[in-house]
Amino acid sequence: MYDPDTKVAVTAVQQAAQLCEAVRQQQQSPAYEKSDASPVTVADFGSQAIICRALSDRFPTDAIIAEEDAAMLRQPQNHDRALAVTQQVQQIFPEATPQTVIDWIDRGSSAIAPRYWTLDPIDGTKGYIRGDQYAIALALIEEGRVQLGILACPALPQTPDQPHGKKGVLFIAKRGQGCRMSPLQGNPSHRISVNFTRRDLCSIESVESAHSDRQAQLQLAQTLGITHPPLQLDSQAKYGAVARGEADYYVRIPLPGSSLRRENIWDHAAGAIVVEEAGGCVTDLDGKSLDFSVGAKLIRNNGIIASNGAIHQRILTAIAQC
Ligand code: AMP
Ligand code: MG
Repeated sequence: MYDPDTKVAVTAVQQAAQLCEAVRQQQQSPAYEKSDASPVTVADFGSQAIICRALSDRFPTDAIIAEEDAAMLRQPQNHDRALAVTQQVQQIFPEATPQTVIDWIDRGSSAIAPRYWTLDPIDGTKGYIRGDQYAIALALIEEGRVQLGILACPALPQTPDQPHGKKGVLFIAKRGQGCRMSPLQGNPSHRISVNFTRRDLCSIESVESAHSDRQAQLQLAQTLGITHPPLQLDSQAKYGAVARGEADYYVRIPLPGSSLRRENIWDHAAGAIVVEEAGGCVTDLDGKSLDFSVGAKLIRNNGIIASNGAIHQRILTAIAQC
């Protein structure tokens, strides 16, 4: 169904998801603090090591821009952390050593290139630690445009209206070829599309209130005549929810005082193509396409709107009037 190159990337993401779930089930995931005060776990590092290794093997000249780096693991006083990551990676690649793991992780520190991969090894680390939603998000970008998006959501219910049913969903979108959804470890997959026909509109937002302006979101919902409270999910699982018609839109509005903050490419690339190939629309708050050609941040874009497409212009108009 997928070409061999896509299959390599999909298999790596599935293996990384397996590691993340194993670490979470073993309850062996203390959170360490990064220099920006955000959390990182053994699973973030392990997931990045596995995916970067697979991509480097198959596409040795491709650039990879991933969220994590191995600086923390290189410090002698953190050798126990490097060992803990290595033990997890060895479940997938038995030949892994602390040094190879560190090298694989640092394959994700490339500069921008005409063709590159971007990876969030655990998107929504706060949700992962809390026991909620998270995603492994990998995308291939060519000439500033996302061409392939793979989004693994290990804790997402396979059927939206059965929240206690089977969990683990994989979204795969290829430019011009639609978006498919399957259980996390493979088949069967089916094509998904956004929902244009919902009578009562429904939005979805981050669990973390510091990641988007809730007050502005409420005002937007009121302008659109929405009475339902928004759904809440951590990570790019929100894009998956819009793509499969569970929600009609997801907006990310910088909080007052952080209007200069720009989004990370790995927090949006895979999710954006998933929504677009499901028939939806993704722009920034000014209606501009997301520009992945500049660097690790979306410096040319202000906030995010991902919608079912049908409602997109109404959202843009309402935001412009706020
Ligand atoms: P979500 O689960 O959608 O809230 O998104 C998680 C992502 O939010 C993380 O990967 C971070 O990169 C990003 N993030 C962290 N702090 C902020 C912030 N102040 N505003 C917007 N996004 C943030
Ligand atoms: Mg992350």
